[in-house]
Amino acid sequence: MSINNKASLESAKPKFSELLDQPEVKARWEKVRKYFFLRESTYDMSNRCNIRCDGCYYFEGEKQFAKEIGDAEAWRKLMRAEKSRGITYVVLAGAEPSLVPELLDVCYQEMPLGSIATNGFKKIPESVGYKIHISVWGNDETSLRVRKAKNLLKKQIENYKNDPRAVFVYTFTRENIDEVNDVAEELVAHGCKLTFNVFSSPVGYTGNLRHDDESFARTRQMMIALLNKYPRNILFSVYNAVAHTHKKGLHDLYSCSYPRQNPSQDIGLGRSFRQYRTDLNWDRLVACCVPDTDCADCRHYAAGSAVVTARLYRHVNNPTTFKSWLDYVDTYLAVWVMGYEKGENLCAEIISPPHVAIS
Ligand code: SF4
Ligand code: SF4
Repeated sequence: MSINNKASLESAKPKFSELLDQPEVKARWEKVRKYFFLRESTYDMSNRCNIRCDGCYYFEGEKQFAKEIGDAEAWRKLMRAEKSRGITYVVLAGAEPSLVPELLDVCYQEMPLGSIATNGFKKIPESVGYKIHISVWGNDETSLRVRKAKNLLKKQIENYKNDPRAVFVYTFTRENIDEVNDVAEELVAHGCKLTFNVFSSPVGYTGNLRHDDESFARTRQMMIALLNKYPRNILFSVYNAVAHTHKKGLHDLYSCSYPRQNPSQDIGLGRSFRQYRTDLNWDRLVACCVPDTDCADCRHYAAGSAVVTARLYRHVNNPTTFKSWLDYVDTYLAVWVMGYEKGENLCAEIISPPHVAIS
């Protein structure tokens, strides 16, 4: 690019204040920026699970062998130490956190903002006021085949319908794209909230769940069609669909800021994020929200929530891109923060992630 061209492009870039000209955009910016104080870390609460899924990233790598510390006071001490180093939000994951409800209670008493990733088979007590993300990998037939769990969706709905904590997370694999129609219909009929995830292969995984270009395109179409069909129940946006079904993974699109991909310890997540194992240790070299996931194939919703959200400065080149980013952040907050209500999406247009061709 010549210097002149570059200069004219830069002069075309709006001032930030101009991006806020429309009242609904300004209002959304004011709404989401109140949450910029969130600083997350993640914690494996248990090294056991009551089901066993094909393609589970927890049972890859070394973390599954860490000793389980079941001492509630040790967890209380950890939460207090985390608070004092600036952590304001905890993601409790696993293997399966619902197997250690007393530890979840202690975490909630010490750190009131957070979420739990669960398979939903065993209900988490109502005293734990975190967001609860219930993983859905397809209909009951598919769950039996891939997760070895019988009547899983029925059980999940029984446990969590009418629960304001609950968000059902449908993970699109290469094999379950069409069956989301029936699953979404059933969840909506029970008044449940739903968001979308994209299967991201653990390191070395070559099984049938791994996506290809054709399945990414079909997944994107399906996400957008369902978003239009059930706008009140589906927590998602068109830009979420673009970011998570692009041929390039999240790291290639946005540069992942977790320590595992960002060893510089400079600012933001690279400095503050830790991923604790069940023995309460952590290792900076492998720390991210989905450890042992293949970075080149990472399109995980949890990863995107941090990685896309952190890239505000890349989304301020024009009003449409900025609105798309606001939709993404609004979705992220509605999925992860108790009491945050999703607004109407501001942009229905498919845009390409900044500096990348659409695909
Ligand atoms: S429910 Fe979660 S932790 Fe348990 S096997 Fe399945 S993916 Fe792994
Ligand atoms: S797996 Fe995803 S979130 Fe983790 S370091 Fe790689 S790109 Fe980042």
